[in-house]
Amino acid sequence: TVRICLFTRDLRVADQPVLFAASAGGREEVLPVFVADPAVAAAGFAAPNRLAYLHDCLAALESTLRDRGSRLVVRGGATAEVVARLVAETGAAEVHLAADHSAFARARDARLRAAVGALGARVVAHEGVLAAVAPGAVTPSGSDHYAVFTPYLRRWTGVPLRRPLPPPRLLLTPEEPASEGLPPRPHAALLSPRLAAGGEARARARMRDWLGGHLDAYEDEHDALARDLTSRLSPDLHFGCVSPTELVHRARRSGTPGAAAFERQLAWRDFHGQVLAARPDAAHADYRPRHDRWREAPDELRAWQDGRTGYPLVDAGMRQLRAEGWMHNRARLVTASFLCKTLRLDWREGARHFLSLLVDGDVANNQLNWQWVAGTGTDTRPNRVLNPVTQSKRYDPDGSYIRHWLPELARLSAPAIHEPWRLPTALRAELDYPEPLVAPDAARERFRDRRGVGL
Ligand code: FAD
Repeated sequence: TVRICLFTRDLRVADQPVLFAASAGGREEVLPVFVADPAVAAAGFAAPNRLAYLHDCLAALESTLRDRGSRLVVRGGATAEVVARLVAETGAAEVHLAADHSAFARARDARLRAAVGALGARVVAHEGVLAAVAPGAVTPSGSDHYAVFTPYLRRWTGVPLRRPLPPPRLLLTPEEPASEGLPPRPHAALLSPRLAAGGEARARARMRDWLGGHLDAYEDEHDALARDLTSRLSPDLHFGCVSPTELVHRARRSGTPGAAAFERQLAWRDFHGQVLAARPDAAHADYRPRHDRWREAPDELRAWQDGRTGYPLVDAGMRQLRAEGWMHNRARLVTASFLCKTLRLDWREGARHFLSLLVDGDVANNQLNWQWVAGTGTDTRPNRVLNPVTQSKRYDPDGSYIRHWLPELARLSAPAIHEPWRLPTALRAELDYPEPLVAPDAARERFRDRRGVGL
């Protein structure tokens, strides 16, 4: 009989429980399938940068599967209908896929079970594919999810992880039905000019290089903006080109001092996943409603999006986002805090802009990090405000990150580069750089949290 292996956000063959289960025994035929479902775009998840990365990942997966005697069947259409048709055509008895807890995936999978079940086949969902610790695997007493990170991390660290699975060597795949071919890669003009390329082999090389070369220094260096020493594995984790479980195992095995700090970040990923699984509405609605009213100021929103707020660190981050489709975590925190806490604009506006560009753009991680910064999420200090000048001096002390992304300030050195408004008027006038959107004196108040703590 035939088993369908339905790839979703797990575009790899190494440590791939779905493919492993579908090919277990070695005697069944396996049909690897990816469905390009227009509902993804209709739900607003299909930004050009991510579609380009997805294209790379699928092309790489197709070629890896071919090396194993198999192939990838790509079809366009509603997932449930497409897969049901493939079940009918091949007589498949099982459809294997990764358990995914987003509201979108749950609705998709319910339709899939109904359509496939009507044909007498069954859907088998595998946990631990998209997250190291699946939503619901650990819960506090009296609730279905952790609302605070630190106690979650303590439990997360103690969860025994399954061992990574080897990739199958050879797969038996029927010659029919045919693939419709990969969805097209968006035109380069629509993409961030410095977008990274995707695919499992590249992701594994990135993982090995980074674990071998930089994990050591991660604890001390992960916030140093100009050094850019974080793993940059977020797009690969988003599309499942590397397995989060394998990453945790490898970090633990390394025995280096940075391992615990890195694992902590991977735990944040699972933490947000379990919050969203329990509260799917948090993708749009405040997780913890605040009483503040957000301002509406389209010109200020546009200045922020364009990296022209007059605050160099904020602008550098926003320009990196546009150029690379990726932004350093510290810059994400500062730019998001500036939008919500200084400009007092709605976090949803910021989240939407990030999702339109981020190659790792992810409903759980993006929306819940935005909510964390906006004070509507899981931060236990919801009034925390990040002062962009202090942050700039602390995390980009010599101004290299700013200089890289803001060529108009390239000739300034630190400390002037952090506060160009303090330059003598004549020098200031020579710079093609805007005045601060919020006057620094007025902003100082907004840089303090309500308990008067400046950060
Ligand atoms: P590393 O420092 O190497 O961390 C390793 C991995 O841990 C990351 O790849 C990521 O999967 C995970 N991780 C790290 N920090 C976080 C975090 N705070 N929350 C959840 N997971 C984390 N991350 C996304 O993957 N997608 C998003 O859409 C996204 N939007 C964000 C929006 C805002 C406003 C903020 C403040 C953060 C956002 N993050 C998002 C989290 C974080 O900024 C990125 O995961 C990180 O910058 C990716 O770079 P890296 O892979 O080099 O991270």
